[in-house]
Amino acid sequence: MQSQSPTADAPDFEVPFDDPEVPFDDCEVPFDDPEVPFDVIVVGAGFAGLYALHRLRESGHRVRVYEAGDSVGGTWYWNRYPGARCDAESLAYSFSFSPELEQEWEWTERYAGQPEILRYIEHVTDRFELRQHIRFNRKVTSAHWDEHAREWRLTTDAGDTARAPVCIMATGCLSVPKVPDIPGIGDYEGPKYLTGRWPHEGVDFSGLRVGIVGTGSSAIQAIPVIAEQAEHLTVFQRTPNFSIPAHNRPLDPDFARAYKEHYREHRRLYQLGLSSGFGDTQIQPSPGGPAAEQVMALDDADFERICDDYWATGGARFTGAIADTLINEAANARVSAYVHKKIRSIVRDPKTADALCPHSHPLGTKRICVDTNYFETYNRANVSLVDLQETPIETANPTGLRTTADSYAFDALVLATGFDAMTGALLGMDIRGEGDVALADAWAEGPRAYLGLMVSGFPNLFTVTGPGSPSVLSNMLVSIEQHIEFILDVMAAMAERDATQVDAEAEAQEAWVAHVREVADATLMPKAGSWYMGANVPGKPRVFMPYAAGVGVYREVCEDVAANGFRGFRFDAPTPAGN
Ligand code: NAP
Repeated sequence: MQSQSPTADAPDFEVPFDDPEVPFDDCEVPFDDPEVPFDVIVVGAGFAGLYALHRLRESGHRVRVYEAGDSVGGTWYWNRYPGARCDAESLAYSFSFSPELEQEWEWTERYAGQPEILRYIEHVTDRFELRQHIRFNRKVTSAHWDEHAREWRLTTDAGDTARAPVCIMATGCLSVPKVPDIPGIGDYEGPKYLTGRWPHEGVDFSGLRVGIVGTGSSAIQAIPVIAEQAEHLTVFQRTPNFSIPAHNRPLDPDFARAYKEHYREHRRLYQLGLSSGFGDTQIQPSPGGPAAEQVMALDDADFERICDDYWATGGARFTGAIADTLINEAANARVSAYVHKKIRSIVRDPKTADALCPHSHPLGTKRICVDTNYFETYNRANVSLVDLQETPIETANPTGLRTTADSYAFDALVLATGFDAMTGALLGMDIRGEGDVALADAWAEGPRAYLGLMVSGFPNLFTVTGPGSPSVLSNMLVSIEQHIEFILDVMAAMAERDATQVDAEAEAQEAWVAHVREVADATLMPKAGSWYMGANVPGKPRVFMPYAAGVGVYREVCEDVAANGFRGFRFDAPTPAGN
């Protein structure tokens, strides 16, 4: 490990480093001298970037993290909209790497809200002394591979430059919010809020007429909370979504204590994909495997009983109530009809209930939502639904929105219109690999990556939970930890081989991309115009991006790859000088 400290004849640094709270002695790299390379540069200080930093520091690497926000947290830093909450349960949606941490941290609810998750992330950052290695308020704008020096050169929007042989993109899968392509949206003169960039000071909607566009996971969480404050809330819905009640509640301390006594076993089940943490931490004994039965084997009474049971338990595990829901259209239609019936039993106005029933996609092929009082909220007198399938939005104007049928004026407008998922953050940077090839060109027809971890032609660049890995179909913490640990193993293999470069073999990558597609095509997943398919962003190639075989299968594949000399990765030693 190298370290550098300022000397009397050091060049003039007005601000030698940017955190006045951190004394020089505590800061291993007191200033960013572009001439001194780091061992690794990590982009992003959300869960993935922080875990990468922790593990890399532990193994003695000099690391610099760049983060666009002014503190840690990634998705949980930006998404502070009312009602923001995780759809994986708190006991499962947390780091597993430190038994002490997992014992000492007390979650207060079954599903943690955004403020609590952010407090946890801040706690982890301080507990493991990570902050001093992070440069905040710096968005990485470019990352270029220098073939001769065999290192990545990064620049930020604050003018920093830094270099390192290895770069880890921990940029998040849902980190680039999408402003809707509503004509005239810039003309609206009232305050407008993107759920993915919510003001840190919060927003008080009391007494206001509020409009909200979108009915995805973010909106479904925000709508019930905003409805409680606003004088009137108008929901603009283009596509209704399936949503399952969370049945969120305070976490019983005795239950949490008993669960923590067996944390290692629980964590192992998540890692093997035998438990998802999407709603099953409360089920005792732990599931220990996919429970469900094939739909056609069930008579009506058994089918209802199983669905009722999953509905009553709550959470996204509902998708797994019937084994073939995601692969058999008839099974899916039967489960979808069950949810339609539930919606109709909750929403009193039949026309509104009809409009809220999703018919355009099979259940689970768009990310299933998990809610608290979402459908119930439409029974409130101060909430109305505008069905954009009947009356599309024509334009925004200075006071609100105009549809083909009516004009709506608001005091505030909320845009819960989603993200440029999985590739948005990566393609938002100018990333250039061997031969100065831009990632944007390599991915012109959609993302291609080996194991979702490396892109052929972009040596020593790793993508955490990238396209082609289970990623957004999994509990992200499970996938993040596995990816970072795998990346460290690849780096250790480089060191063992005296290699300065590792890359994905083009053939291995193509075979993996084909396999990811085959797995998706064996399911109903590609049938929806979902963000998994890139369908929510005009012009984005339609490719099913995550790996749908599950974290257990994926982990086995990675272990097998590692056990076989990191099959599909090419390690290169330095070329002799002058060559
Ligand atoms: P989303 O699921 O992509 O939903 C965006 C919504 O905006 C959709 O209803 C979409 O309608 C609508 N929309 C977009 N452009 C529009 C336009 N021009 N006019 C009218 N409507 C428009 O985005 P999200 O709700 O932010 O959720 C994204 C993902 O983030 C989730 O699927 C989930 O993975 C994650 N998330 C998780 C949680 C959680 O843990 N509980 C919470 C929030 C988000 P169409 O469907 O017709 O395009």
